[in-house]
Amino acid sequence: MTLQFPVAGTWTTSDQVREIRSPFDDSLIAEVPVFTAADVDRAVAVAKQALHGNPLPTHERAAILDRAAILLSERVESIAADLSREAAKPIKQARVEVQRAVSTLQFSAAEARTFAGELLPMDAAAAGMDHLGFVLRVPIGVVGAISPFNFPLNLVAHKVGPAIAAGCPVVNKPASQTPLSALNLAQVLFEAGLPMEMLSVVPGPGSVIGDALVGNPDVALISFTGSPEVGWAIRSAAPRKRVGLELGNNSPLIICADGDWKAAAAAVKVAGFSHAGQSCISTQRILVEEPIKEEFIAELVKHVGSRVVGDPADDATDVSALIQRSEAERVGSWIDAAVANGAKLAAGGDRTPEGHVMPTVLVEADPRDDVCANEVFGPVVVVRGFTDVDAALSEANDTRYGLQAAIFTSDINVALRAARTLDFGGVLVNEVPTWRADHMPYGGLRDSGNTREGPGWAIRELTEERLVIIKG
Ligand code: NAP
Repeated sequence: MTLQFPVAGTWTTSDQVREIRSPFDDSLIAEVPVFTAADVDRAVAVAKQALHGNPLPTHERAAILDRAAILLSERVESIAADLSREAAKPIKQARVEVQRAVSTLQFSAAEARTFAGELLPMDAAAAGMDHLGFVLRVPIGVVGAISPFNFPLNLVAHKVGPAIAAGCPVVNKPASQTPLSALNLAQVLFEAGLPMEMLSVVPGPGSVIGDALVGNPDVALISFTGSPEVGWAIRSAAPRKRVGLELGNNSPLIICADGDWKAAAAAVKVAGFSHAGQSCISTQRILVEEPIKEEFIAELVKHVGSRVVGDPADDATDVSALIQRSEAERVGSWIDAAVANGAKLAAGGDRTPEGHVMPTVLVEADPRDDVCANEVFGPVVVVRGFTDVDAALSEANDTRYGLQAAIFTSDINVALRAARTLDFGGVLVNEVPTWRADHMPYGGLRDSGNTREGPGWAIRELTEERLVIIKG
């Protein structure tokens, strides 16, 4: 039976249906309506009415977010199971994502309670004498939230949670492969008291639903997480809207000989291979100081060999199938091309009929190979040696991306040099570039995007500043 989705204030379905099938074994998971541009327009119109009609007071919005966090934490198992099935995310990683969405909602509730405008020192100018001035923060308007498949729950929570905190209604277009997690989050929010008019979830093709959101003049802000190609096209199609882009990366990790390289190898076991490397900050380019390079590779290969590749529903699985067979083929072809160009395969390289790419370690791939120069978005890391840390910093910076970068060193001066030199949205010291807590400012430069998420930062984007001057 086709599932119903919340669109324009009611549970609804559509004549057209899409089957959601497991990326791992192709089994049927659900039948989901395919909506149209007209459905988007209805959802936006109802959202606009909710914004202007009878807006919820701040204390109610905060309480809804807190109640939703509690409901989500009570349903970790069932919501993680849906997430795992639709995205082929190993179940233990899916549980972590649900827990993270709980904290994203909690931090959003905290923002709702504390985010405020600003008092201005008007009498700092002679003309400002006898004037009181302050800046109110008002909701920007209806938000169009376009989300990707790889964190189908927590990245929707990162868009919807701060929007509710700011008082903005949302029309969400989930990735076509992963609409169930967005649906589950909406259900929890409605049970927690969110009026249905405040949130529509509208599955359908990116080009149809996305275009309708981007083209609708009543959508004030597009919050997009996904690939640079789609993100920048949206940015140029909507010059009059605020457009927040969270895009990709080919995350560099520098490991100095004086750093705890054993801890780094153990961390990369997760950071390079979690959800089969389909994370925007998956560790990808590992630059290791020559004296420890061989030992590091041996340690990393040992860890990578312990990764269990299999069924996402199995508690033992660390790495499962990529989101599509065509993606497994693309990643495989990049590995093959790097090897043909002289890289050494230290682990992995194979594919399975179920769409897995075996966890792969390449050594000394050429920086111009796709596995270095572009975002692999698969379970592949590349190790390259360096002799001079400044050269390693330059190599890390030699990329069109700029989301997060990291360095392991015990030298505080090198750590500070890295923090000042690495041209990324975030620099991590003695931690992998894949690390993220949900309340930190998270976002990138260049082809990694143009904004910061994390409820405390997102809420700034989601509000306009309104100046108020009172004479007297
Ligand atoms: P994608 O293909 O760009 O899709 C992202 C979303 O955009 C999906 O909902 C997709 O819908 C939609 N879309 C596709 N074409 C569109 C169009 N013409 N107009 C409007 N929307 C459109 O990316 P993905 O493969 O799902 O995700 C992988 C990328 O996301 C990677 O580059 C990754 O690094 C990045 N990412 C970044 C972050 C971050 O926070 N910086 C986090 C996670 C992922 P359909 O599914 O229907 O095509």
